[in-house]
Amino acid sequence: MITVSAIKADVGGIGGHTRPSDGLLKAVRGAIDGADFVRDSYVGYCGDDVHIIMSHERGVDNTDVHSLAWGAFEAGTDVAKKEGLYGAGQDLLKDSFSGNIKGMGPGVAELEFEERPNEAFVVFAADKTEPGAFNYPLYRLFVDSLSNTGLIVNKSLAAGVVINIMDVEEAKIAKLSLWEEKPEIEAALMYPGRYVISSVETKKGEPILAASTDRLHNIAGTYVGKDDPICMIRTQKNFPATEEAGSVFNNPHYVAGNTRGSHNMPLMPVKLNTPASINFCIPIVSSLVFSMHDGRLTGPFDGFSTPDWDHIRNIATKKALAMRSQGFVHPATLVPSELEYAEGYKAIMASVDAKMAPIKETGTASRRTSYEDPD
Ligand SMILES: [Mg+2]
Repeated sequence: MITVSAIKADVGGIGGHTRPSDGLLKAVRGAIDGADFVRDSYVGYCGDDVHIIMSHERGVDNTDVHSLAWGAFEAGTDVAKKEGLYGAGQDLLKDSFSGNIKGMGPGVAELEFEERPNEAFVVFAADKTEPGAFNYPLYRLFVDSLSNTGLIVNKSLAAGVVINIMDVEEAKIAKLSLWEEKPEIEAALMYPGRYVISSVETKKGEPILAASTDRLHNIAGTYVGKDDPICMIRTQKNFPATEEAGSVFNNPHYVAGNTRGSHNMPLMPVKLNTPASINFCIPIVSSLVFSMHDGRLTGPFDGFSTPDWDHIRNIATKKALAMRSQGFVHPATLVPSELEYAEGYKAIMASVDAKMAPIKETGTASRRTSYEDPD
């Protein structure tokens, strides 16, 4: 059995939440290189998030693997501090490593499986958004045959998949099965701020997808912000075709996040190692396409690098400007409970509340009674 671990964290950006520095990336790579239990690895970034992709035989939730990633992010943090990068070490929420990197700040997506002779998988890494950003594209991939013909013509996919959906507020998971539980799946995915896809498998139990769902950073009982997600999807044969997995990102839908984690903007597919835009931090997602044999990686091929994606990027830019054109008015901004900087909003609303005076009984009240039940 082979395991692929995709672990990501933001440990500092140049001049704001833009991208890691070359020195930071070098430090992370240096910490991973030479670990004898790692078969192969790749380090890259999407916006200000550094991702480490590793293949190994230690299984998921392995202490050595997680400790290695934690150490690599610490090495990156040291460089970030020396260079004065913004948010140095910001995703390392604990002082010391304690066995499993989950719940400590970094995002983790891991799959353990019997490697196929021509194993293929794609990693989607996003920035300036939250795990629920994948709800819409993954729904298109596994449930919507108008988006994915493979759901009709591929026997394994047509049988329906099992989707594990996490309630990130309560830290609970529901195992829901297609096609019999389709309305339940849809009802949950309607609310990406709370319900997110954590994993997908075939009806025969073959793992297809794992996603980071670590928005539940209620580590110290407080919500500490949105967590830029990463997910990994095995492709070809019994699984979605690589081009099916990629194409579900071709309609840039509105997601929560971006500037101050407090707005809705479209999710723009970008090339590998793209910095976050300083045009109000448009949410971005990159696509790392890999082949693997005996745990050795070939790639990544840059899935969103071909000319057609430039057209999609233009659509995303137009949708971003359209939403920004209405400024702070909903739905351009998030509802108060989702605002990352809610303390500032609460403080100013407290001032508004203090100036509120009760309304005297007027004709308005009698008009309202006309809507009430006559009984
Ligand atoms: Mg980020």
